[in-house]
Amino acid sequence: MRVLVFSDIHANLTALEAVLADAGPVEAHWFLGDLVGYGPDPNECITRVRALPNLSAVPGNHDAAVLERMPLTWFNREARNLIHWTQERLTPENLAFLQQLPEQVRHNDVLLVHGSPRAPITEYILTSEIAAASLEVMPTDFCFVGHTHTPVRWQEENGFVHFYPPTAGEALALKPRAILNPGSVGQPRDGDPRASYALYDTETHTWEWRRVPYDIAAVQARMRAFGLSPTNILRLAMGR
Ligand code: ZN
Repeated sequence: MRVLVFSDIHANLTALEAVLADAGPVEAHWFLGDLVGYGPDPNECITRVRALPNLSAVPGNHDAAVLERMPLTWFNREARNLIHWTQERLTPENLAFLQQLPEQVRHNDVLLVHGSPRAPITEYILTSEIAAASLEVMPTDFCFVGHTHTPVRWQEENGFVHFYPPTAGEALALKPRAILNPGSVGQPRDGDPRASYALYDTETHTWEWRRVPYDIAAVQARMRAFGLSPTNILRLAMGR
């Protein structure tokens, strides 16, 4: 089964549409959290994702904040304003969709979470120490995560955990005990502003990272029209 693995859309419909078009036909959609936050299109993105066939989805920390499952004191003033802005906009159907998302989903040998297996909503896997701790509690051969907005593979090898950056344009045959991040659709932070995602084949266990350009200026114009944060408008073009 050919699966689209994607994360951190962050209310950026233009990037999402570019990813869906670039991926081509897939048999399943696995979404790793953060539908909302930063971008101008929270409702449009939830409506689009909800309708995708064979969808598995987990909530991210921004989704949890909109549902008030996280203390708003964790966020700075700008982020809190954005949470209120999103809350005012979401339709009851889209809010209900976020509410029913499970914190983790398991498909045979793959676990899907936003942050990490230890703390599915909040933990950032940023170091090999954190990756090792995650691998220790991981009940599966593979875990797909989002949250850091950076495409990466953490691989357990001979008792150690190694960090591997993405290999563009080639399918990677995955070996057991690995954590993979497809990068972010709508708010990449690895210095490359193009939308990031991955394709996974459940039979061959092959994984392919992909980048796709989209009309960043159009998204920035919508953010400006809504009076959203100038910092977030700028960083979209820098991939930071
Ligand atoms: Zn995020």
